[in-house]
Amino acid sequence: LSSLALSSSASSSSPGNALDIVGDDLKVELPSGEHVRFAHLDYAASAPCARAAADAVQDLLPRYGSVHRGTGVRSSASTIAYELARDVVAEFAGARPGDTVIFTRNTTDALNLLARALPPGTTTVQFDGEHHANLLPWPNPLRLPTPSSPAEAVASLQRALETLTGPAVFTVTGAGNVTGEVWPVRELADVAHAYGVRVIVDAAQLAPHGPARLDDLGADWIAFSGHKLYAPFGAGVLAGRADWLDAADPYLAGGGASAAVGDRPGDLTWATGAARHEGGTPNLLGAVALAAVCEALMGAGPAVHQHEQVLLARLREGLAGVPGAVEVSVFGPDHPRVGIVSLALPGRDPAVVARRLGREHGVGVRAGQFCAHPLVRRLTGADQAGACGDGTTGLLRISFGLGSAAEDVDRAVEGLRRILGT
Ligand code: PLP
Repeated sequence: LSSLALSSSASSSSPGNALDIVGDDLKVELPSGEHVRFAHLDYAASAPCARAAADAVQDLLPRYGSVHRGTGVRSSASTIAYELARDVVAEFAGARPGDTVIFTRNTTDALNLLARALPPGTTTVQFDGEHHANLLPWPNPLRLPTPSSPAEAVASLQRALETLTGPAVFTVTGAGNVTGEVWPVRELADVAHAYGVRVIVDAAQLAPHGPARLDDLGADWIAFSGHKLYAPFGAGVLAGRADWLDAADPYLAGGGASAAVGDRPGDLTWATGAARHEGGTPNLLGAVALAAVCEALMGAGPAVHQHEQVLLARLREGLAGVPGAVEVSVFGPDHPRVGIVSLALPGRDPAVVARRLGREHGVGVRAGQFCAHPLVRRLTGADQAGACGDGTTGLLRISFGLGSAAEDVDRAVEGLRRILGT
């Protein structure tokens, strides 16, 4: 799995590789009649499937059975596969001894699960530019304005925690879904821990692009989604400290979450460990596919990051020559970011431009507010309804990853140049 051979100038990575993208040769017809490879530049929404995930699913399809239920060979093998997947994901997430790894549906699910497990009365400290999945689930939120530098983020958190009384947690994104900027999680976690405050990291956008490890980040919990990590939909992860999760009511009451159930309502013993919050029959195929990608990414090491940084530099260089496309950022243009760039298009409707990029140039991007309404409003100077002074709404986002190639980026830049020039 470690033999990753990525080339940023080839139209896709080499065949037979665990991190090749399945279906990467999808062709579309342009109005000119020319057929071109579809340039999928919307990885931040959902990344396409990696060969490792497809192979893992293919391998299990003829053999699967119910996990943790039944004694036959299908069930036993499925239980082993599921628990092995958990071990691989634990390694990927940098889990420490005693940490728990819970398979969820996605990041939103993972963060909602954890939000319900917080001890009563806990305040959740957060910056207001989070993705809605990390903005909305938390009880008693204390929202700090999105800072304009990492130093301001640290100082702002410190000030808030100095004055806060009572138990609190701090939740932050590892990399933003609008600008791709990498947040100073380690520094923020150190501040939070100095005040006895636990730290949650939304790694939905960080995990696909580089290490997202509990130990390195100094986080207490981390959450991410399979469908942004080159695996199919429907599997996500919550990993981290077990104590509050073991003490909380199950996220989903039912089979699997219960160890013993008596005759009278309430006469029951809940399961402990991950099973407590994985009520119902688990998503074996999703977990195994996700783990297969985690394993491949661990084997690939920094090659993934390097590939994206080459494309990122090429994209930004190209965009600098496109009048009317203004890159947005929280921490400034020089701050490190993953393979995500969002553009303000003054006087243009980003949705229309995005549609034209698709139709006329075979490039798939995303336009809008990306489930981060407060942040996008701030970045565009929009009103509460999301409308900018010039009547447009939102941004246009270009995001990429493993299967992306220089020609995709070049086509996006050229397409924007033509559309914005007319
Ligand atoms: N957090 C961030 C930073 C995201 O970008 C997203 C999805 O776009 C989410 C959370 C939610 O992920 P999911 O839709 O997989 O639950």
